[in-house]
This record gives sequence, C-alpha cells and structure tokens, in this order.
Amino acid sequence: MSACTTCGACCASFRVDFSVEEREDHGGTVPEGLCVEVTERICRMRGTDHQPVRCAALTGKIGTQVACGIYEWRSSPCREFEEGSQACHKARMRHNLPALN
Ligand code: SF4
Ligand code: SF4
Repeated sequence: MSACTTCGACCASFRVDFSVEEREDHGGTVPEGLCVEVTERICRMRGTDHQPVRCAALTGKIGTQVACGIYEWRSSPCREFEEGSQACHKARMRHNLPALN
C-alpha cells in the first residue's frame, strides 16, 4: 500500500510549476483558482511558494492523513513525482519522516 496517504510531505516541500496549458481555463484540468501566475506560460500551485510550503489543494495533516483535493485533475509534476525517489526522501526528511525502504 502507498505511504502517500499518510504522508503528503512532497506537497509541502517544493514549488509546483507547470504549463498554463494544464490549467482548466486553457483546456487543461487544474482549477485556475488554485494556481498563481509565474509568467505568461508558467503557473504554480497556490501555496507552494509560501513559507512554510503547503499546496492549497492538500487537505489533512502531514505525516498522519492527507489527500489531494484535485487528485484526478492534478498537474503533470504531481503525477510524475515518484514515491521512494530521492526527492521523496528529501521531502520526508524535511518533515521528520523516515525515508521509505
Ligand atoms: S513525499 Fe513520498 S511518500 Fe510522501 S506523499 Fe510524496 S511521494 Fe508519497
Ligand atoms: S495538487 Fe495535489 S498532488 Fe499536487 S502538490 Fe497539490 S496536493 Fe500535492
């Protein structure tokens, strides 16, 4: 079973940037209200450049129980992020969670 539903560390560690074409108002899926504009071509998940970092779509408590409020509609960087990768370990370390085996 995936550790992600009791983690969420990556959604509260990194900037999540993607092409505006992934946004709903540009024919994509990500709701525009959850995005902030970076450039004309690039947007970012709201909250992922805040301090502390936390994506506005994330619900629940990091390290306990979490969910992505737009799971079906999330952007490509969210889809491509790999559980158990180096970046995953880094995110979990930031939140004092042990690396996955
Ligand atoms: S940091 Fe790793 S284990 Fe935690 S939610 Fe992200 S991919 Fe899943
Ligand atoms: S959109 Fe969902 S998967 Fe992507 S960073 Fe936000 S909460 Fe995590």
